[in-house]
Amino acid sequence: MARYKSLADIQIQLKAGTLTCVQVVNYYLNQIQNNTSLNAYVEVFEAEALQKAHTLDEKLENNPESLGRLFGMVASIKDVLCYKDHQVTAGSKILEGFTSLFSATAVDRLVQEDAIIIGRVNCDEFAMGSSNETSVYGATKNAIDETKVPGGSSGGSAVSVQADTCLLSLGTDTGGSVRQPAAFCGLVGFKPTYGRISRHGLLAYASSFDQIGIFANTIEDVAITLEVIAGHDEYDATVSKKTVPSYSTAKNLPQKTRIAYINSAIHHPSLDDDIQAQTLNFINRLQQDGHTVEAVDFDLIDYLVPTYYVLTTAEASSNLARYDGIRYGYRSQSAGNLLETYTKTRTEGFGIEVKRRIMLGTFVLSAGYYDAYYSKAQQVRRLVKDRFKAIFENYDFIIMPTTPTPAYNLGEHLDDPVAVYLADIYTVSANLAGMPAISLPFGTHSSGLPIGLQLMADSFKEEELLQFSASLGF
Ligand code: GLN
Repeated sequence: MARYKSLADIQIQLKAGTLTCVQVVNYYLNQIQNNTSLNAYVEVFEAEALQKAHTLDEKLENNPESLGRLFGMVASIKDVLCYKDHQVTAGSKILEGFTSLFSATAVDRLVQEDAIIIGRVNCDEFAMGSSNETSVYGATKNAIDETKVPGGSSGGSAVSVQADTCLLSLGTDTGGSVRQPAAFCGLVGFKPTYGRISRHGLLAYASSFDQIGIFANTIEDVAITLEVIAGHDEYDATVSKKTVPSYSTAKNLPQKTRIAYINSAIHHPSLDDDIQAQTLNFINRLQQDGHTVEAVDFDLIDYLVPTYYVLTTAEASSNLARYDGIRYGYRSQSAGNLLETYTKTRTEGFGIEVKRRIMLGTFVLSAGYYDAYYSKAQQVRRLVKDRFKAIFENYDFIIMPTTPTPAYNLGEHLDDPVAVYLADIYTVSANLAGMPAISLPFGTHSSGLPIGLQLMADSFKEEELLQFSASLGF
């Protein structure tokens, strides 16, 4: 249970003089100390967080007008986001000892608005995974039950908020890495439209999919954070120049919305019975509340995961070519010449899942197979996007579960990567289509674990998505 409900809650107390930023930071540092068994943090920025809190308390006393909009917010950042003069390793040995030369635009904008970054949190290696078990630092554990995975790849981000060690966390979502751990940990997890938030300073996994996402306890904290970090950035050509709406204040949602659910998704054989029943109940509730909720056909459901894995591994094999022992981080000490420096550094520096994906990506891009796999997957991606666009001509949102099951046991799927890939069935469509989606903590599974409900909207409809989520009581 979070001590501070939201940023607004903290700021009211700070302004009333009943709380100081130093007290807020000390509370969270204490929480971090008490939860080290969860292995959420890779590094805690204790001294500088306290220092910044002191500075903010002085500003609050002497010059409150100069305070940024996020003063009092204590946030963690996934270990794939650059923060100037701090280490960043993508949960990988290959970036051992590497220090960021600049800050990611999103991190920089948080700091400019006086958020306090309390630490760098664990994740799957290069954000490749669904359970946080591929990290060189070992798995993060789910705070509800330490025998369960927290989800991934942003598992440390999720658990840092879940265990109340910070108010909010920035993660990344290439195929579900914010929404899936949010569902496993009982949080709000939000992925924006591709191009809404700058990717500058985000260590790339699959560049045409990667987006920074937000973990929080409330929609209002997601909204204000998105408002701060979204928008044009000269360092990332894929960021949209569209004006950033005031997500935190806007209120122009139609009273009754039109919502679609996908028959083949809700009746998919991989979906857990209890999650299915609770999702259908929720659909009923929405109908009773006067919303139009209708089933739509979508015949591409079983192509989503294969398309995602062909394209993301192809992009990863290219993006990760730069880690060769020459430029960044780790270099093998036992290499006798240049070629050996490359091969030994990569053999020793990358973990098994990253190697598997580089191999797969290299294969699908290879001369003889490019058309059969890579080009074909690009064509399917276009079809998927077109189908979703067509649905959004008639509906405001698509509703579906976030995950087919609740959190599973640590180690349970370690030797079956394909089973883990297939469980991305509900999250990858938003990334393939580049559309915004959110996971809402809407229920408890019969096992006692949290489950997530996912809403997806058309591109750049974040405002509607967040308002509708808030209107549902999240
Ligand atoms: N589970 C997905 C994968 O392993 C998602 C990863 C992500 O979104 N970074 O690729």
